[in-house]
Amino acid sequence: MKNIDHYDLRGKRCLIRVDFNVPLDSDFTITDDTRIRAALPTIKKVLAAGGSVILMSHLGRPKDGPVDKYSLRHILPDLEKKLGLKVKFANDCIDAQAIELSSTLKPGEVLLLENLRFYKEEEKGDENFAKKLALLGDVYINDAFGTAHRAHASTSIIVRFFPGASLFGYLMQDEVMSLEKVVKHADKPFTAVLGGAKVSGKIEIINNLLDKVDNLIIGGGMAYTFAKALGGTIGNSLIEEDLIETAREAMVKAKKNGVNLLIPIDTVIANSFSNDAPKKTCKTNEIPDGWMGLDIGPETIKSFAETIKNSKTILWNGPMGVFEFDNFAQGTIAIAHAIADATALGAFSLVGGGDSVAAVNKYNLADKVSYVSTGGGAMLEYIEGKDLPGVSAILAT
Ligand code: AMP
Repeated sequence: MKNIDHYDLRGKRCLIRVDFNVPLDSDFTITDDTRIRAALPTIKKVLAAGGSVILMSHLGRPKDGPVDKYSLRHILPDLEKKLGLKVKFANDCIDAQAIELSSTLKPGEVLLLENLRFYKEEEKGDENFAKKLALLGDVYINDAFGTAHRAHASTSIIVRFFPGASLFGYLMQDEVMSLEKVVKHADKPFTAVLGGAKVSGKIEIINNLLDKVDNLIIGGGMAYTFAKALGGTIGNSLIEEDLIETAREAMVKAKKNGVNLLIPIDTVIANSFSNDAPKKTCKTNEIPDGWMGLDIGPETIKSFAETIKNSKTILWNGPMGVFEFDNFAQGTIAIAHAIADATALGAFSLVGGGDSVAAVNKYNLADKVSYVSTGGGAMLEYIEGKDLPGVSAILAT
């Protein structure tokens, strides 16, 4: 890959697209700094190699120009603390001050630009805006995996202005290599574990994975659409009536491709959607009226865990039940542990998507799986088989 280890960065002003789109509370305190921490290795490498760093990112979804709420100024104190140095700030990402600050930047110094999305041109992929940003650096580095699926000015269009000088940062490289390992070069048996609330939004993933995996495990709310497609009664469980046929087609495709498609045998049911609701276990296809499935049952846990432990490659996206309720988190906990156990036995495991990442963090298993993706949307689009403009733009140069 075209990465920063293979380029002489000495004396170069490196314009790095990072993903500093972090959650902030009402006092502008960062509540989860994962994305900033993830960008540090690249920033530190450039500085150690004798370059200077110009950081650009978006924050939130500003609708109409600059607003203090979405100013990247709020993350300066945290960034300075993490880097252990003073970081300069440009109040606007393309104005005369930004040009002045970037042109006088010395090796070892860092400049942070104001929110790119204060300009509508960013998301529109405007070439002229990208050209103005490009004036600020000698080398372009993309380390923003979270926005790699968007053809924005700073993530892909800008590459046109850095012929021979567009590189991947370490985060981007690790994300893409982990995904390629799973999607293109998986050791077999390859098991994908999908969960979460809905089938919709995961149809293309299911379709694409059915051409690649040996086992496809379906848990969470989406499993009941499959159970209904098989003729079961599912009470008040989540259902997408309009996708019953799609679920049926997926099962036919699985059979045709020799994929072992597993849906829950038993289910933990409740009579209302609450942590304290009375609960019991029943067969997934025999859920009584007035009850809903909120977690996978013990027999299912055993069977899913067995399949996972016998796998060499595992991809996990989506919880097995309503894991936000402690009383319905057992399935998700058990599956997270099974993936960690399989990893300890030598499997490669990739976990991605907001809720599964939250789950491995909550159960302290993040360092017991092979890779935790930082980019939910980008990861899912890659698994759907789509091109990631942030990646392909650099590969094409
Ligand atoms: P998604 O965004 O589609 O990945 O869905 C994640 C959400 O699915 C989480 O908030 C879970 O609480 C929810 N979920 C998982 N299993 C169920 C279920 N059986 N019934 C209702 N919601 C569920």
